[in-house]
Amino acid sequence: MRFQLFAAALALGLGLGGAAHAQDPFIAARAVSETFEPARPNADQQASVVKRLKALEARTGRKPNILILLVDDMGWGDPGAFGGGTAIGAPTPAIDRIAREGLKLTSTYAQPTCTPTRAALMTGRLPARTGLTRPTLTGERVLVSPWANEKTAAALLGEAGYMTALSGKWHLGEAESDQPQQVGYDEYFGIFSALAEYTQALDERRYPELIFNAERMAALRQLSHPAVMAARKGEKATVATELDSLEKVAEIDQQFAAYSEDFIHRAAKARKPFYLVHSFSRVHNDNFSAKDFKGKSPAANPYKDAVIEVDAIVERLMKKLKDEGVADNTLVFFTSDNGANEDAGSDGGFQPWRGGKGTTWEGGVRVPGIAYWPGMIKGGRESDGLFDLLDLFNTSVLLGGGKLPDDRYIDGVDQTSFLLADNGRSNREAVFMYSERSLTAIRWEEFKIHFKVFQTPVPGSNIDESTLVSTGLSPWVYNLYLDPKEQKSVGHRTFEWGLPRVVGLVGRHMATYRKYPMKELGLAKPVQ
Ligand code: CA
Repeated sequence: MRFQLFAAALALGLGLGGAAHAQDPFIAARAVSETFEPARPNADQQASVVKRLKALEARTGRKPNILILLVDDMGWGDPGAFGGGTAIGAPTPAIDRIAREGLKLTSTYAQPTCTPTRAALMTGRLPARTGLTRPTLTGERVLVSPWANEKTAAALLGEAGYMTALSGKWHLGEAESDQPQQVGYDEYFGIFSALAEYTQALDERRYPELIFNAERMAALRQLSHPAVMAARKGEKATVATELDSLEKVAEIDQQFAAYSEDFIHRAAKARKPFYLVHSFSRVHNDNFSAKDFKGKSPAANPYKDAVIEVDAIVERLMKKLKDEGVADNTLVFFTSDNGANEDAGSDGGFQPWRGGKGTTWEGGVRVPGIAYWPGMIKGGRESDGLFDLLDLFNTSVLLGGGKLPDDRYIDGVDQTSFLLADNGRSNREAVFMYSERSLTAIRWEEFKIHFKVFQTPVPGSNIDESTLVSTGLSPWVYNLYLDPKEQKSVGHRTFEWGLPRVVGLVGRHMATYRKYPMKELGLAKPVQ
């Protein structure tokens, strides 16, 4: 009976604003307009935070800086602050310090793979809406520019007077019109794709079928130029470093770090607020240790060397903020773009959850999250409140005094008061999880409800050998406080009271696509 209700809710598409529907008393979120995701109002914390931000701006004379530290493929459990670190052969003292002196967010969610998360973080919109539903691959011709009708946080903050830069991995389109300097960033210094797209042309032991075949190598060269690229707004990108050896590939994060330090210095000198996305190429496979880190992790393994390199770069950038006198006017957010990649074996990370990158089990989407801002975020805070990386869009733009677009659906919510109030609570009601264009699961309160699940007959082969199947009559339900590894669904047995809540949330969510539909860029599989 109640599952028929679920189907009916989806079919009808529960009202957008809820005017015709009574508010569910279990749900705290309120709709403010049909183009914004409803948010929990938390009016008390909002008022106090606005006051503190005004006082800070009066003191510094400008809006705050925003530094997003985005690691590639780091598992929730890799940093020591999240249970890994020394215990798994790669101590992370710098990450642990900002977690300890800032806010540790234990329920931060990414999308299951690289490109979708980056698109979500930069636009505040779910990948199904932007069309960036899966990683783009070298030389792939996307039919429609993903950026034709999208607006990045960088563009909006640029309009508000910010200096903006992307340092490191982009992975949101390689065509000239889709590069960072064409979609809102003042500056770009980095690589267009994931690390393996570069190592595949260099690592003979792993990719002999490609490297020892001259025709294939020539074809690959026609499609992509392996290099660290540099660009200024609106200009054509130029080669900064040719990536023609594994030794050069191994050093690129050191280059990105040096670039970010320089950018921070120039922004501080110009006395302008900045928005910097520092996007590591680490710790995505294939990891080759930089010379200063080779064998230096206790595990003496290239993945673990990459983790300690990331940690050392976090330390460098935190020191740079301090040295330039801007640490107390900078929100730092540390996170990863998806869960650990179990398919990569020992070249992948660690997490205590089920599944890994590519799935919407917790292991694919739950990532470390740390918000750090000396003087503005009270040290020692921890929260399990929901934070979706989509929220960095709203939070960054509004902190910077920018204007959010109201002509499209924005799935992010403003989390400023959650991050800054001493006992701040999350403003997000639920996290909607997707595989490409399919809604697979939802996190609400401490519950995870699956409508479609990834089945992985070969353990750890989440990307390469899994199937996505619909659940039966009941959605699969886990209380993540009692069953954090999602091992035994309680289905309808202990969550009957909650199912109508979730049905309502999903029904409302699906209804938003009527007016603000999914976009098709040509990334779908040719056979469905
Ligand atoms: Ca990734």
